[in-house]
Amino acid sequence: MTQDPTERFLEDMPEIRPGQSFQFACHPDVPCFNACCSGLKLTLTPYDALRLRQALGLGGEAFAKRHGLLVRAPGSGFPLLRLRMLSDAKASCPFVRAEGCSVYAHRPASCRTYPVGRATRALPEGGHAERFFLVREPHCRGFEQEAEWDIAAWSTDQGLAEYNAFNDRFAAFMSRLTESGLTLDPGRTNMAFLSLYQTDRFREFLTTSKAMDRLELSEERKARIMDEEAERLDFGLDWVEMLLFGPGDRLSPKKG
Ligand code: SF4
Ligand code: SF4
Repeated sequence: MTQDPTERFLEDMPEIRPGQSFQFACHPDVPCFNACCSGLKLTLTPYDALRLRQALGLGGEAFAKRHGLLVRAPGSGFPLLRLRMLSDAKASCPFVRAEGCSVYAHRPASCRTYPVGRATRALPEGGHAERFFLVREPHCRGFEQEAEWDIAAWSTDQGLAEYNAFNDRFAAFMSRLTESGLTLDPGRTNMAFLSLYQTDRFREFLTTSKAMDRLELSEERKARIMDEEAERLDFGLDWVEMLLFGPGDRLSPKKG
């Protein structure tokens, strides 16, 4: 399996094992407060983008225009959104304020995880293997603070479980796509972006195309897909997987 650049970066950092403790705190009294909220290349997973745009009360299209930069995954050309930094001298995150992060409850997974780096690997029998690393950057003075954590306590404190649930699946999908050597044509690129980053407009597509009527889906799941954006995003990934790799365990066309 090929290693992505994030994994290669993390491999150079000290590994931290479950149960091992580290000292860290981040709050307005640390001398470097907000230092890490600028100059970032922060790729938003579809779940990160959904949580942010819901917090801001924006539709998928408005969010992408106002805060997104469309980037393409190397090789496949898969469409991804990167958070657009401001054009000030520091290239600040649009959500950073003197008092801290203005979207704190909905901040992206990478903002939650820091200063811990998490590398995951899909297991053939299902689920993921995880490894953790401590990202000690010279500007970060949070390591001088007294609070002690281990990985489990840090993950709980940062509300990572609900983010990891979607993001791990998405990471496994992106690895599969890279390994397949597929390159997306414009039609599939547009469909992938609609299904994963514009779930509000994807709902309109599902209504007008009646696409769900041709799939093996329970009535109960169909209703949840229409009513709940997180469920629609989950289905959106099933849909994109089926379009790119064919029917699978999670989604297939109706038989007969
Ligand atoms: S989203 Fe919040 S925590 Fe993340 S970089 Fe922006 S201001 Fe900082
Ligand atoms: S550099 Fe470290 S301590 Fe300073 S604001 Fe960022 S995370 Fe917090």
